[in-house]
Amino acid sequence: MFDSPWRDDFPTLNNHQQTSPFIYLDSAATAQTPLAVIERMQRFYTHEYATVHRGVHRLSAHATQNMEQARQTVANFVNATSSDQIIFTKGTTEAINLVANTYLPTFTQAGDEIIITDMEHHSNIVPWQMLAEKLGLTIKVWQMNAEYRLDLDDLQKLLSKKTKLLALTHISNVLGCINPIKAATTMVHQVGAAVLIDGAQGIAHQQVDVQDMGCDFYAFSGHKLYGPTGVGVLYIANTYLNKLPPWEGGGAMIEYVQLPMGTTYQTAPWRFEAGTPNIAGILGLGEAINYINHIGMDIIADHEDKLMVYAEEQMQTVNSLSIYGASVNRVGVISFNLGNHHAFDIGSFLDNYGIAIRTGHHCAMPLLQRLQQPVVCRASFGLYNDTHDIDVFVERLQRIKHLLG
Ligand code: PMP
Repeated sequence: MFDSPWRDDFPTLNNHQQTSPFIYLDSAATAQTPLAVIERMQRFYTHEYATVHRGVHRLSAHATQNMEQARQTVANFVNATSSDQIIFTKGTTEAINLVANTYLPTFTQAGDEIIITDMEHHSNIVPWQMLAEKLGLTIKVWQMNAEYRLDLDDLQKLLSKKTKLLALTHISNVLGCINPIKAATTMVHQVGAAVLIDGAQGIAHQQVDVQDMGCDFYAFSGHKLYGPTGVGVLYIANTYLNKLPPWEGGGAMIEYVQLPMGTTYQTAPWRFEAGTPNIAGILGLGEAINYINHIGMDIIADHEDKLMVYAEEQMQTVNSLSIYGASVNRVGVISFNLGNHHAFDIGSFLDNYGIAIRTGHHCAMPLLQRLQQPVVCRASFGLYNDTHDIDVFVERLQRIKHLLG
C-alpha cells in the first residue's frame, strides 16, 4: 500500500464539490494541473500581461524573456541541443500537421512511401493521409504482431528507397506499450528517411532524450504533462530545422515583407510560429516542467511502475474482466472490458461511484478494429494516483459486475 505524496498539489482532486470519493483515472486524456501551474498563468494575467516580440516597453520585453526561458526549459527537458529546435504549437495534433505540411511537400515526390502503424492515434494517421492524397504518396502500415507489439523485422520488410518517413507513437494511448523507437529510428535512417515520434503519451511517463532516440521530430501536448491545454511542442532535429518551409504565414514569422511578392522568413523556431502565441499556456507548460523536475522524472516513473503492477494484479481479480495488450513494458494506461457489457455502461456506473475513466474508441479506430472491439474502457494513471484509488476502483468494478451479472 502506498500513497501519492503529490496529490494535494492538484486542486481539482481536492475540490470538495466533487463526488466523494473522487478518483481520477483519465490522465491519458488530460492530466490534472498542479496549483503551481495555475498560479503561474494567473501571475502572467494579473501582473505581467503583455504580448511578446513586439514592444520595446519593459512589460513586453519581460514577457518575451519569460517565454524564451520556457522554451529553454522545454529544450533541457527533452535534451535538445538548442532551444531553436523547440517550436510551440497548440498541441501534438498541430505539431504533426506542421510536419506533414512542410516535410512531405519538400522531401517527397509522387510514388514515395510513408510508414505508420496500426496502433496510432488518429492525429498520427489523418494528417499523413490528407497529404498522401494531395501529393500522390503511398501509406504502408507496420502492423502489430499477434501479441499487439511492433516487431522490427516487420518494419525491415516495409523499408525501401521509396520510404521517406516513419510516423510512430512513443507509447500507445490504448495499450500503453513502449515502442522500440531507437532501433526503429536507426533502421529508418539507413534508407535516408525521417522519423516522427508522437510523444503525447510518452512525454509524461519517462525521461525523453531526443538525441539518444535519434528521432527527427518529437511532438507532445502540454495538457498530458500536467500543463495547460492549447499548448504543445514540436522538436525538430538540425537535419531539417531550417530546411523546412514555413507553414502558416503571418506576423512574427517574417524577416522582411514587401509587395507584391518577395517576403523572406525568420529562421526557426519563429518561422513556424505565425501570430501571437499562447503566452500564458507556454509559461504554464514551463512551470509544469519545473514541477516535474522538482520531483524528478525517475521518481515519478518508479511510483507509476509500482502502481501499474498493483492495478493490473487487482483488476485481474475481477471476474470476466479482459485487459488488452501485454503487461510487460506497459506504461500509464490499462484498457479493458468487463464481460460483454458495453464500455459506456461501465464508464457511467463508475462515474456514479465517483471514478473517472475513459470509454470509447480512444481516437484509435484501426487499433480497436485489430482488437475486434468497437469500444473499450481505459483507466490511466498519473503521479497523483495511489493504491487506495485502485482499491476503490476495483471494488466498484466488482460491484458493477455483481449488479450487471
Ligand atoms: N497522440 C496520442 C498518442 C494521444 O494520446 C493524443 C491525445 N489523446 C494525441 C496524439 C493528440 O493530442 P492533442 O489532442 O493534445 O493534440
